[in-house]
Amino acid sequence: MSEDLQAGSHTSKISEYASHSLDILPPQYTAEEIYRPDVLETIEQALDRLSPALRDLSLKIHSHPEISFEEKYAHDTLTEFMESSGFKVTRHYLGLETAWRAEFKHGTGGRVIGVNSEMDALPGIGHACGHNLIAIVGVAISLGLKAVLTKHDIPGKIVLLGTPGEESGAGKAILIERGGYKDMDVCLMAHPGAGPLNCTGTGPCKATQSIFVDYRGQTAHASAAPWEGKNALDAAVIGYSSMAALRQQIEPTHRAHAIIKGENWAYNIIPDNAKIEACVRAPTWKEAQVLKDRVLKCFTAAADATDTTCTVTLGESLFDLKQNPLLASEYSNIIAKYGIKTIYMEGAIGGSTDFGNVTYVVPGLHPAYTIPTLPNGKNHTKAFTDAARTEEAHNMSISVAKALAHTGFHVIDDDAFYSQSTGKDQTAHPQATVRTKTKFAHGFTDSVLSYLCVVIITTNGNQPSCVISRHPDQA
Ligand SMILES: [Zn+2]
Ligand SMILES: [Zn+2]
Repeated sequence: MSEDLQAGSHTSKISEYASHSLDILPPQYTAEEIYRPDVLETIEQALDRLSPALRDLSLKIHSHPEISFEEKYAHDTLTEFMESSGFKVTRHYLGLETAWRAEFKHGTGGRVIGVNSEMDALPGIGHACGHNLIAIVGVAISLGLKAVLTKHDIPGKIVLLGTPGEESGAGKAILIERGGYKDMDVCLMAHPGAGPLNCTGTGPCKATQSIFVDYRGQTAHASAAPWEGKNALDAAVIGYSSMAALRQQIEPTHRAHAIIKGENWAYNIIPDNAKIEACVRAPTWKEAQVLKDRVLKCFTAAADATDTTCTVTLGESLFDLKQNPLLASEYSNIIAKYGIKTIYMEGAIGGSTDFGNVTYVVPGLHPAYTIPTLPNGKNHTKAFTDAARTEEAHNMSISVAKALAHTGFHVIDDDAFYSQSTGKDQTAHPQATVRTKTKFAHGFTDSVLSYLCVVIITTNGNQPSCVISRHPDQA
């Protein structure tokens, strides 16, 4: 609780701003009938009782920020908590040091609700994306569902995955490749962000492809014999400038951004090395690949222009987020009960997420929800780090978890809802109870894409001047 007191001054400032901006709320959302109000009450009672313990968990993780794939404290703290809550825990799941799995099963058969808890922070600015809140939302959904299966004696399974490396490294893509999502019928999580207070959104988010370019040239004395050099920095500058010019002719919904790096540079040496680290984004994975090809032409042409060579390595491939429309409708309907309105918000708060890859293999929902923060204090700012430990942010997270837990329960309990949300045959789980209160009619159709390629794209004499391969971290 001492952590609470430390954050006191930030909390009061944020609360002041929060109350001031209440008048910008959108119109009230009108809720439909709740599928099982008695079950929702079970979830509410369980999570209201657990809320102080969940807040303690959230603050502990917030006070020990760890960057991607180094979430050791979070791994140990969360697995211990889940184990003491009666879940069967697998630490260091599927060969990833900081991944984990917590499973609870009740009865025989039934459906499997997947849940994700992210844990990583950002270099230097701590939990500026609020993944401490994401972690406890995942835990809360799972504990709420456990209470329901037990109290109402409904067969089913909950699989909570602790997913490392969201900010960098696409941890969920690795877990997908290793079979971590195979037994799930749906998968749920949520992400905090800035915006009008008491709002949530289930919009899509962009697909992303990261690109690493390594230019190699020849050093020379910059005054005595510059003609003997091959300038790798010039190659990177030309590549970057070409991409910058190209940005004028790309769709407003597309993004291309990059930085230049180098080693042992000095103004009196012609640089023999330079790197570009770039990223392209577009609303769909297909569009991102088209943009990637256009940007690669900029980078590779620069090698030809400067008589240097370049190696292009494709890094993180984050697919666009396909929010399941039926799960989204159900979630929005329930959360309206808590005075939280559904507005248009991208699921990943304007960025991209490796949960997009999850939605290519299992129907998923990844709502964004707002927490009070200071002006210009959106995700990835120090102000958002402060916002992620306030009482208001915690309470919002618990409400979101309640709505998602009931959404998960609906999948377990209602064959028509299950069939319509997943596109799967309800007879696959004969033990499940048949209920038909569902009014929605959307399905999920996409299948996973695989995306590894090695391509030689231009030649320079007999040597390939540009080679594309998969980033070693992604292999
Ligand atoms: Zn995030
Ligand atoms: Zn982030």
